[in-house]
Parts: sequence; structure tokens; C-alpha cells
Amino acid sequence: MQEKGNLSINSENFLPIIKKWLYTDKDIFIRELVSNACDAVTKLQKLSLLGEAELAEDEAFSIRVVLNQDEKTLQIADNGIGMTADEVKKYINQIAFSGATDFLAKFQEKTEQENEIIGHFGLGFYSAFMVADRVEIDTLSYQDGAQPAKWACEGGIDYEMEDGTRETRGTTITLYLGEDGKEFLDESTLYAALTKYCAFMPVPIFVDIVKEETEEEKAAEKQAENTLHVSAEEAEGMTKADAVEKLEEQKAEAEKAAAEEPKPLNDPFPLWLKKPADCTDEDYKAFYHKVFHDFNDPLFWIHLNMDYPFRLKGILYFPKLVEQMDVIDGEIKLYSNQVYIADNVKEVVPEFLLLLKGVLDCPDMPLNVSRSALQNDGYVEKMNSYITKKVADKLNQMFKNDRSGYEGFWDDIGIFIKYGCMREEKLYDKIKDALLLKTTDDVYETVAEYLEKNREKHENKLFFVSDENQQVQYIRLFQEQGLEAAILSTPVDKPFVSFLEYKNPGVKVQRIDADISDTLQEKDADASEAKKQAAEHETNQMQDLFREVLGNDKLKVEMETLKTDKVSAMILLSEESRRMMEMMEAYAKNEEFKAMFAGAKPDETLVLNRGSRLVTSLLAMAGQEEKKEDVSLLCRQLYDLAMMSHRSLTSEEMTAFLDRSNLLLEKLAGYEKE
Ligand code: ADP
Repeated sequence: MQEKGNLSINSENFLPIIKKWLYTDKDIFIRELVSNACDAVTKLQKLSLLGEAELAEDEAFSIRVVLNQDEKTLQIADNGIGMTADEVKKYINQIAFSGATDFLAKFQEKTEQENEIIGHFGLGFYSAFMVADRVEIDTLSYQDGAQPAKWACEGGIDYEMEDGTRETRGTTITLYLGEDGKEFLDESTLYAALTKYCAFMPVPIFVDIVKEETEEEKAAEKQAENTLHVSAEEAEGMTKADAVEKLEEQKAEAEKAAAEEPKPLNDPFPLWLKKPADCTDEDYKAFYHKVFHDFNDPLFWIHLNMDYPFRLKGILYFPKLVEQMDVIDGEIKLYSNQVYIADNVKEVVPEFLLLLKGVLDCPDMPLNVSRSALQNDGYVEKMNSYITKKVADKLNQMFKNDRSGYEGFWDDIGIFIKYGCMREEKLYDKIKDALLLKTTDDVYETVAEYLEKNREKHENKLFFVSDENQQVQYIRLFQEQGLEAAILSTPVDKPFVSFLEYKNPGVKVQRIDADISDTLQEKDADASEAKKQAAEHETNQMQDLFREVLGNDKLKVEMETLKTDKVSAMILLSEESRRMMEMMEAYAKNEEFKAMFAGAKPDETLVLNRGSRLVTSLLAMAGQEEKKEDVSLLCRQLYDLAMMSHRSLTSEEMTAFLDRSNLLLEKLAGYEKE
């Protein structure tokens, strides 16, 4: 029997279009054809369960991918349901074809948006023509008395059908790889595509690479054969029985090696499909290492396992940060029925999860719609809520049941949680009581605990440090007074500070150098009017002095008696002013913004500590004409020292500071100018 036909009258450019459209993701044909093969097996298994197909007792289902580099063919063969000639006509000539054309019609409307459709699902069988000049199907249906059928098409609109040659049930698809598919003749390219898409498909996949042996390989093989005999030297001194025994041993070993089951490329029953109760910690860790190529163990994980109202299975891992300041690069792999779709699909996966690592298998997700449509789909919303709840439950449970363990993870998971809370307020609402602050006392406290503990000293103020090294002087001051500040020093903390304030109305969140808390000042309970006036006079005197020396007539100087004599001077910058400066830095490139804030300067205040010996000495020296040079040196040095605890000096400021330090040391060493 031979039959010729054509696919459709109006579709002459159909196959060239397929090639062109999907050029960038050519390897998708692997996913389409291998998943079709899996489906063929699954369908047969279902029929057998229903008693509609008879299977041998030891039936072993598998898919074989055979690459023949000489013939430039790639075969995908399954022992699934197979097709009769009529089915080929129906499924391949009509349904698959119209499926592919529909898909392309949709696709073409969305010019320039190749990635719009998630995973390009729906292209199916005809994606083979992205890489092949000719495609053949050789198939034998499972049905009693079925005859094998063969279909072939050379990328035009014409196909041929004739009797097939397959002797066992199933389907073999043969691709004659053309110019566009020649890269798949390379073993490693083929393996890369197979591992990307098929690593967890449900039917074992075996790969065979058939290639012409080179002379060297032939020689190597020959040598290997030769080892299966007893050499002349060995034979010397051996009885005949020994020699026979040795040969027998060698034969048995060779047979054993040959009989050893080859390993499939994929894991047909991935961990996420198992019941959480059946998985050990070691299983979860091993799966993590294998899938994410991370040598570190994950901190902990959440096994998602939902059947109703939609199916969603997966595992989310909280990774260990290698560096505190790591830009966290998560990896969420999306699957549909064990078929890989894509990584980090932000329209589908809740955004905050993109910092984690994990696999999500969502068979009910409508994958053949555009991403934006999916985003507005109730499905994504529901999935989001479910995952958010699961993450929150896990965190709360750890916080309640094992607080110290949870604290141990905080440095690694804090960034994720803060980011998550800002992105997904529902997450914040659920875990706000388990949100920790690490403090300068090296303890972890919730916001409520911090406020409660520091209530007496500074009610409803939450102080934080953004750089522990730079702000060490303020930290020391705080610690000496039994006060603590939260350490909020990662990139995510900048917006998080505002977020904390927004979520805790009535609480003032301030950087440690924004204001000297009342508690840092010695209160002069019964200061007389005269004393007050004298103090004011001194302050004015110092302000004038510093303004003159530093050439900055806007500088504000205050004098306070701090509860320590170790600190001579500090810079304070109001929280509002600092945040504005930070915003200006962040938008430095935005012209409009720049114009708006042109000329804005931080209104820093220099606070001099009356209790410091240096400041009292400076006061005494200030009026003396002959000490003018020293006074100027001291003022500048004092100002720089205060500034260094507040921000980094610019390079000019630093140079001046170093030169001056040198000069001061010279003086201290008794060096006198001629
Ligand atoms: P889809 O898989 O999305 O239905 P395809 O274009 O990939 O679309 O395939 C069209 C149809 O051809 C399938 O639904 C199936 O009935 C049939 N088919 C494809 N490959 C095989 C196969 N390996 N074994 C049996 N039937 C197949």
C-alpha cells in the first residue's frame, strides 16, 4: 500500500515558518518528541489498567534515543501505544498539523514576542522540522491484528504513507537531521538538550550513540578482546585446568558487565512525587546537589504536595549563602507532568521565591496561553497563596519549635524573608511575629521584643546600624549605656527600613547616628540661667571657630555632655535628611530628579562632647592667638574623625587627613620647624 497526500492547501510556508519562529529554542523538538513518546507509554499503561490492553507480565517500558552520526539520523523510539495507519492520518495529518498551525497563527500575531508563550507548548510533533529535512514515523499499534504503518514527510506539504516495518508495538520517529539540526549530531549537544528537558520524564530513557569507529578505537577494542585469553607468559607454569578456570572467570566477568542494566538518562520517579513521609533528609539533600549543582547542603526545605483544587507538587530549598552580601540568584524550575518547561518564569512563580532554589510541577497550569494572560489567570493567584502559606507555616513552625535553630539560619534566610515580606504582604502578615532583627549585642530579637526591651531607654524608637565597622563609635556609645541597635546592613535593608516603619506605625526607625538619644546625654537637672547662658556662649564660640577653620558657614555645632569621655565629637544627620541623600544617590542618573534636588546638602550637625578632655582643652586654647595654628589643626582633625564614623571620606578628604595626622605626629615627636 502506498499513499500520497498533502497536509493542507493553504499552508505552503508552514514548515519554513516553524523553522524560523523557533530558531532560538530549537532544542524544544527533543522535549516534544520525547514527551510524546512518554505519553504513548502512559496511555498504554492506562488502557492496561482499564483492562483494554494486554501487557506481558515483565513488560519494561522504555524510550530509546539513537543518534547515528554517519547516517545523520536521530531516532526516538518507544514501546507505547503505537498508531494504526488511520490514526496516523488522524493524529499526525490532521490534529497535530492543525494544532501546529493554530499555534503558529497565534504566534505570528505576537511578533517579536517569541518568549510570550510559556514553553512554546502546543507545537508538538511538527517541531521536528526545525531540525530535520525528512521525518519518518514507523509505528505499530497495540491493537490486535494491527499492521505497521509508515509515514514520511520532507518538510514540504506533501507526505507519503506506506506499510511499515516495525515488528514490535510502539513508534519510532526518525529525523534526518539537516543543516539546521547538525549541531545535534554532537553528542554533548544532544545530551544537554535531553538532560535539560527530560531529566524527570516518567519513562526510562536510554541513549545510544552509533558512530563509525576510528582506527584507534578499533585497535583499542581488539586489544580488549585479546585480554580474554591466557597469554603465553601467564600460561607458563599453569596447569591446563588452571588456564581453563582463568578463562572461565574472565568470561563470567565479561558477561556480568554486559548483563548489568544500563542506567537510564532520567529519573522517572523524582523526589517531589514521593510522599514527604517517605523521603529522608539525605534524599532531599542528594536531590538538591544533583539538580542545582550546589556543593553546600541546603538549610531546610519545604515539600509542596497539593491535589485539590489544583495539582501542585514540588520542593523549595532555602540555600546557604556563601557570602553575606551575595546577590542571591535563585533557581526555580518549572515542570508540567515531569516535563521541564523553563527556569524562573516570573509571571507564574511568586516573585519572592525567585531567591530560592526549587522545582515546581504544575500539571494544571495552562501552558499554551501567553504569559501575560496567565498572570491574570486565577490559577497563578491561587498557586501564589498556597505557596506563600506553606512558606509561612514552615517558618513559623521553626520559630516556635526551635527558636535557636531558626536564629542560626537567620543570617542566611533573613534577606529572603525581608525581600519576601516587601514583595508579598500576605507573607509579611503571616510571619511578622517570626521576623528577626540581629542586634549589636549579637542576639536575635523580634521587633516587639526589641521595643519591649528598650522601652525604658528610648520608647518606640528602633535604632539600626548600616555599617558595623564604620559606625563602631556610635555602637560603643550605645553599648556603654546598655543600649542596642539592629544591624541592617545588607542591600535589601535599605528599603526594608522604610517598610518596617510603614508596618509599625508609631515606631521611629532611625540610623544610629541620626540623633543622640536622650539617654546618651548627661542631664544637668538644675542648670541655672547663668550656667545656661555660659553654655550657649561656648557653643556659639565653637560654632564660629569651626565654621571659620573649615570654611563652612552653614555648619551647625552643638555641645552636649555625653556619658562617655572617649568620644570627643560626633556627626549627626537627621533620619529624613539621610534618607533624602540616599535617594539622591540612587537616582543620580535621573535628570529630572537631579534638578529637583539641585543644591540640596545634608544638614549635618557636629556634636562636641563637653565631657571630653580634648574638647575642654580646645575651648581653653581657642582664644589664644599664639595657638591659632594648633587650634586649626585640632578642629580639622576632630571634624574628620567624627566624619569617619559617619561616612567614608572622599579621596581628597582622606589625603588631607593623612597629611595632617603626619604633621600631628611630628609635633608629638618633638620635631621643630627651623
Ligand atoms: P500533542 O502531543 O500535543 O497532542 P503532537 O503534535 O505532539 O500534539 O502529537 C499529535 C498526536 O500524535 C498525539 O496526540 C498522539 O496522538 C500522536 N502521537 C505523536 N507521537 C506519538 C507516539 N510516539 N506514539 C503514539 N502516538 C503519537
